Amino acid sequence: MSETMIKKHFENSEIQTGACHYCGQVYQFETDGMVTEEQLDEWAEEKCDCIDARINKKRRGKANNAKVEIENLLGEGYPEACEVLKAGIVKNVKRSREI
Ligand SMILES: [Zn+2]
Repeated sequence: MSETMIKKHFENSEIQTGACHYCGQVYQFETDGMVTEEQLDEWAEEKCDCIDARINKKRRGKANNAKVEIENLLGEGYPEACEVLKAGIVKNVKRSREI
């Protein structure tokens, strides 16, 4: 059943391209044609195996671990502080991509 759903989903598919932020390698993605350029570039980066993309993947992995840790420590007792800290981590990872 899930297979037919996938086929249906791709009936109106389009090929969109995204570029790795670091090395410029372009990748094609089968999408519904509505994916933003930012998202496409993110996927390209995810797919790319250049050194900077790999470093950034590691960095994002660490950021995700940190978010889980914050959630575990503060999530229940201090949900607001938890959100602020998690937003801070996201900002930090985004900023480090521009260096
Ligand atoms: Zn790359």
